[in-house]
Amino acid sequence: MANLIDGKRIAAEINAETAGAVAELGCRHGVQPGLAVVLVGQNPASQVYVNMKAKRTLELGMYSEKHELPADTGQTELLALIDKLNCDPKIHGILVQSPPPPQIDERQVVLAIDPGKDVDCFHPFNVGKMLIGDQDGFFPCTPYGVMVLMQRCGIDPSGRHAVIAGRSNIVGKPMMALLMQKAAGANATVTVCHSRTPDIREHCLRADILVAAIGKPEFIGGDMVKPGAVVIDVGINRIEDAAAKRGYRLVGDVAFEQVEKKASWITPVPGGVGPMTIAMLLQNTLKACRASCSPD
Ligand code: NAD
Repeated sequence: MANLIDGKRIAAEINAETAGAVAELGCRHGVQPGLAVVLVGQNPASQVYVNMKAKRTLELGMYSEKHELPADTGQTELLALIDKLNCDPKIHGILVQSPPPPQIDERQVVLAIDPGKDVDCFHPFNVGKMLIGDQDGFFPCTPYGVMVLMQRCGIDPSGRHAVIAGRSNIVGKPMMALLMQKAAGANATVTVCHSRTPDIREHCLRADILVAAIGKPEFIGGDMVKPGAVVIDVGINRIEDAAAKRGYRLVGDVAFEQVEKKASWITPVPGGVGPMTIAMLLQNTLKACRASCSPD
């Protein structure tokens, strides 16, 4: 039976470390890290995410600003707000919740954010820095969270074969970049599978570390996992469940009950990768604030 990678516990550890560092920054430099979250429209899932981020920001002693704009907000208006936040010394991180309404060009929005405040690491400048192994930029929150989960569980990817299912810009591609880096806690040999990969099962079966990020409920079955593999489930999928209070329950991209019998380590859903994403977002905000402080 696999060991459980307890993302809830590890995220709580990271958050406590962030809160300690925030308090110290206040004492030593008199600054408070600030995060602005921007939501355009009333997408209920996005509202939940934005509220969770703002709440956690405050809990860790940071300054939080929430900008909720109407669904018909134009591109110019949104870019003007980003410009204002770019210039605001209270704000060290800016996050525009995805997906925006169709009239908004998300690419232009990403490009408008000051790379020094791009705590989601979506700006091409930071994506490029991550790829070349420059530690000065940011790492995207979810894959960064996966790396930290493994590190805190004593799992070293060095020399191991990591297989990633999914190639999105948010998860799959940066996961590849982080795992393959010539750096402590990385140095894996990486295979990336996607919707056009024939026979994904064959690839998964060769994985020492398998990262599932495809958005398909319980896609990775026990027959796709090598005995002893580390299995990281990034997927968050709602499936109908009449017995559940809300009428649905959350499952990952991995069939947990089958796979936990074969894996050496496994993340649960919920409580695995999910809690790490906000924890790493606030670590990035802290990093942005530190970079803006002049040295002693
Ligand atoms: P996405 O839809 O942007 O990308 C999915 C990827 O999976 C694509 O690259 C596609 O090529 C690949 N894919 C689809 N079907 C496939 C198949 N049959 N075989 C192989 N590859 C296939 O999704 P995303 O944004 O990367 O998110 C993936 C999952 O992770 C979703 O369930 C999402 O909710 C979850 N997610 C969780 C967090 C978190 O904080 N835990 C953060 C981001 C995303």
